[in-house]
Amino acid sequence: MQISRFFYPKQAFFAAFLFVSTFSFSQLRNAEVHKYIEKIQSSYREIIHMPNLDGYVTLKCDFHTHTVFSDGQVTPMVRVNEAWSDGLDAVAITDHIEYRPFKDITNPDFNKSNEMAVKHGESIGFIVIKGAEITRKKPIGHLNALFIEDVNKLKQDDPVDAIKEAVKQGAFVMWNHPGWPNDSTTIYDIHRQLIKDKLIHGVELFNAKEWYPRVLSWGKETGLTLMGNSDMHHTIRNNYGGEKMARPMTLVFAKEKSEKGIKEALFDGRTLVLFFNILAGKEDLLKKFVAKCIDVKVIDKKKGVIEAANNSDIEFTIKYGDNLVILAPDKVTRLTLEQKKEVLFSNCYTGEEENLVMPLW
Ligand code: ZN
Repeated sequence: MQISRFFYPKQAFFAAFLFVSTFSFSQLRNAEVHKYIEKIQSSYREIIHMPNLDGYVTLKCDFHTHTVFSDGQVTPMVRVNEAWSDGLDAVAITDHIEYRPFKDITNPDFNKSNEMAVKHGESIGFIVIKGAEITRKKPIGHLNALFIEDVNKLKQDDPVDAIKEAVKQGAFVMWNHPGWPNDSTTIYDIHRQLIKDKLIHGVELFNAKEWYPRVLSWGKETGLTLMGNSDMHHTIRNNYGGEKMARPMTLVFAKEKSEKGIKEALFDGRTLVLFFNILAGKEDLLKKFVAKCIDVKVIDKKKGVIEAANNSDIEFTIKYGDNLVILAPDKVTRLTLEQKKEVLFSNCYTGEEENLVMPLW
């Protein structure tokens, strides 16, 4: 066998050496630097499985985040990278207008964080929505203006003037964390007036780590679009850990995957809110979406033996009679359930104390 060595031409030997050295884990840059891995970790992205509705694409979005340009701890680029890595489809940068503790070291132009985030989003093919948070004490509280053109013009003494300016720019305005800071989700006269005047269009059902069941009642009463957002100030990993779908999100049912598509869907109220495996929102949308998540194959119609395939990454828990069944994400569950029997989805909410109830088949 030794003799075969002399059979290979010198060039082939060097080509083989080059191949091995290029594709081995440690790449020899020079005697002092051995590159271990070429690709950085932020090149990885979760794939979140959420079915689409007929005529609509399901987009995973976070409409409330902060950067170092207000009281956040990261740059706009990090915020965008986090959202991309978490498998989202869009993120909004919503720095406080009135609260900027790092203003000594950041740019005085209030549009700067949006500009940096949008530029970075374009470079990686990710949708970034320009926003700002109008930050006042209750009763009016905090409101995010999304899809705005010029944040500088929102710096007004009267918060209603700021909202009016945002709406003039075409903004979708949402009332943030109505249950903060006083543990009450009271809807004040000012909000009722602003809703009536079409100056508030949405409200957070979920913010950061808390949710406000009463807001589901407002959803019905006021027609406001329901939102669920991280309101992230630190890093997603700090707050939620590194698990898949740890961060809350707003599911948007858009006619197209674009900023324009998201905006149209928000104004039309086509959202559900997903947080810690709880799915909440308006009943008609929730019914349609859950029906798309679970495909039923009938095995024995007479005996009611079925296989329920969960096409989503949401774990559904259903109750009927004495039965409690978990429909695990991306798995098929075999169960016995008679046709047209209504089941209660204990992780899906349509009202303050109302769960989604519908038959599986
Ligand atoms: Zn905020």
